[in-house]
Parts: sequence; structure tokens; C-alpha cells
Amino acid sequence: MHKLRHLSIMLLAMTVIGLSCSSNTNKENQQQSQEKSGSGQKPKPKNVILMIGDGMGVSQIYAGMTVSSNPLVFEQFKNIGLQKTYSKDNYITDSGASNTALATGEKTANGHIAMSPSGDTLTTILEMAEQHGYATGLVSTSSILHATPAAFIAHNKDRHEYASLAEDFLKTDVDVFIGGGYNQFANRDDNRNLVKELEGKGYQVLRDIQDIEEVEKGKLAGLTADKHNPKYTEGRGNMLPRSTQTALDILDNNAKGFFLMVEGSQIDWGGHANDTDYIVNELLDFNRAVEKALAFAKAHENTLLIVTADHETGGMALTGGDREAGQLKANYGTDGHTGVMVPVFAYGPGSEKFRGIYENTAVFDKMQAYYGFDQ
Ligand code: MG
Ligand code: ZN
Repeated sequence: MHKLRHLSIMLLAMTVIGLSCSSNTNKENQQQSQEKSGSGQKPKPKNVILMIGDGMGVSQIYAGMTVSSNPLVFEQFKNIGLQKTYSKDNYITDSGASNTALATGEKTANGHIAMSPSGDTLTTILEMAEQHGYATGLVSTSSILHATPAAFIAHNKDRHEYASLAEDFLKTDVDVFIGGGYNQFANRDDNRNLVKELEGKGYQVLRDIQDIEEVEKGKLAGLTADKHNPKYTEGRGNMLPRSTQTALDILDNNAKGFFLMVEGSQIDWGGHANDTDYIVNELLDFNRAVEKALAFAKAHENTLLIVTADHETGGMALTGGDREAGQLKANYGTDGHTGVMVPVFAYGPGSEKFRGIYENTAVFDKMQAYYGFDQ
């Protein structure tokens, strides 16, 4: 008995030594020096890409990893943390409150869009970036007026006031937005034609992803669906990775830098439907968009890439699977959101600050500190 324990302690010690050696690979050293780049100085802030998988918890990500025959991009990140999603008035957040927290650094009541519980307007990171001369953009697979993108640009106590949320887009100088929601701009009860107004402000208003993809500069409003875009498997195709690439290319024209938010909206809807195939297809689509963003961040120094979620949806539990066959069995605890922490993956200068466990509002704080807007 005693001998055996001694042996197992020795084995443990050997394992620890082995681990510390293997973690010190050349590749990792390379990445570390890359992430501290700027010849020893504090990296000059330039671009932030914030990617939000709506409803994307660890189960949704591992579901994608199980089904995919190739490794997902998530596995390339070294700086990983967890954030708490509860809202000001509820243990279970909605997308209005959680995205307000990510966008403004303030917890608010469920249903609110960049507005405090009492109705004060909360300035968003996108608005701050614009004020400081950065280019800005939003990309989404839902309507561009849905809670996630809206929380970065609009202000309302009711996330469902879509007509009003659309008007708020005109109050900004956002450079690029691509998503659904055309009807709220074009066919309105108040007889305003926001498409005409956007064109008056210099936007190219385009509806087809092929046309959108050809835009290389200037202001772009890509309204790819009347309301929401369809599911990936029902005709949306690669709209999200293509729109992400287009937005990055346009925003990169601004020498000072940019802020871009990209949302994989429908991971959440698959969760609400307790539909495993829906979740996995949307997750893999989001993964391809993250691949585009990570490639951009690797090619463009001083780009901070953050990939996270606003909350988990469905209480998804992976109860069985076959990694070889790419098969999966899942159960669900709810058709709503859950209160569980969600992961944060970060790459680039300042990405090590995203390690640990923190509030969802800290994601905003860290972006603000990266840009230096907090000084
Ligand atoms: Mg959303
Ligand atoms: Zn939801």
C-alpha cells in the first residue's frame, strides 16, 4: 500500500514535469511573443472584433466539436475566461440585458436595449469608437434590429420597438451593417423611408449577399432579409462568414482602426427549439465566421478578437455521442435561457486580460481599457 502510494506520487510528479515541458513549445512561445508585439512597448490599440454566439454555452461548442470532422477554431485560443450573465432584475437574462452589459458595461433590466432600468441612455462601445474616430460595424444572422446588434447602437426600454430601433441607426454614422430587417427601414407605418434616408447619408443599400460582397469601401447597409435571415440549412448559406469578411475589409480602410460586432444569432433559436441539428449547424456557421476574424487578427497587428456569448440557451446537456462517427445525443433542461456562465475566448494584444471569471460587464470594461476610452 505504502509502496504503491509512493509510486503514484512519483508518477504524478513526472506527469507534472512532463506537462510543464510540453506546454512550453515553440508554437506557444511564438504566440506569446506575437501577443506582446510592438517591440516591447504597450501594444498600440487599433481594432476590436467582438463576436457573440447568441445562446452559445460550452455544450453548444462541444456539440460542434463532436460533429465536425475538423478541429474548430475555438481550440486555437489560449486566453479563455468565463463571464456571469445574470441581469439587473433576473437570474436568467434575456438578450436585451446581456448585450447591453457587453455593449455598455452596465447591467440593466431584461428587455432593455442600452438603457438603464429607469430609462437613462447608456453609451455603447460602438458609439464611443465612433466618437473617437474609429470605423464601426455590425453583422448578424437575425434582423439587424434584434436585441444583440441593437444593444450596440440603439436605445429603448423595449427591445421589440423595432420601428424605433431602426430610426436609431440613422442617428449614428455606423459604417457597415449587414443583417435582416429590411422592412423596418423600407415599409414603415410613419411613412418615413429609411432606405432613402440611408442613401441620403451616403450608404449603399444592398440586399443581395453577392452585391454586398463586392463593396470594398464607403458606407454599406446590407439588408439581406425582410425580417430575419433564414436558417443556415434553409437558404442562408455562408452569409455570415462572407459578411464578416466584407465588413472587415471595408472597416480596415480606416487608418485609426475599427470596432466590429458579429453575431451568430440562431444558435439561440436552435436552443429555444431544443433542436440539436439546428444548434450544431448554426454553431459550425459561427465557427467559420470566427475563422475569418482570427485570420484577419493574425494578419493585422493590434487587432483584439473576443468571442463570447450573451447567455446559454436550452440547458443543453450532451448525454451521449460518438466522436468517430460525429454523432451526438442531447437533452435539454428548458426551452428558455439558463443562468450558467458562458465562455470568453480572446486573441491579440490584451487578450490575457480575458482570463479568469468576471461579470459580463467586464467584457465592455476590458474593450474600453484596450482602446483607452476610459482615460
Ligand atoms: Mg441575438
Ligand atoms: Zn433567446
